[in-house]
Amino acid sequence: MKIKIRRNAADIYRNENTDLSGVYIGDPVWEDRLQKISGKTLEVDTETLFKYEFNTKPIKGVSKEGIRIPEEYVEEVIDDIRKGKAYCELCNQTSDSDKVCTNCGKTDYLEVFFDDDDEYES
Ligand SMILES: [Zn+2]
Repeated sequence: MKIKIRRNAADIYRNENTDLSGVYIGDPVWEDRLQKISGKTLEVDTETLFKYEFNTKPIKGVSKEGIRIPEEYVEEVIDDIRKGKAYCELCNQTSDSDKVCTNCGKTDYLEVFFDDDDEYES
């Protein structure tokens, strides 16, 4: 599973982190990272999956550890393995079923990655 980062990811970040009077309040480390990974395709760490975020594997030249990328910076998800799975808010793990958690057996804490009527835009 991979994600393609938007080409203007750093611009999105800068716009979102500039306050109404035009003062930049963003984190230079994040800005630099987004600049480096913009337009690139990154490998996703599928150990923990999220509905609106992605954990990446370590990125050479950017981060020795994986980083978490919010969906807004992602242009395309490639080989998405989240269909039919869910995130369990009780045990904080990925459940292989979207009906009952395959880790703790509970049914009431699952956040399904894809609703049936979800139109997934890529
Ligand atoms: Zn669970």
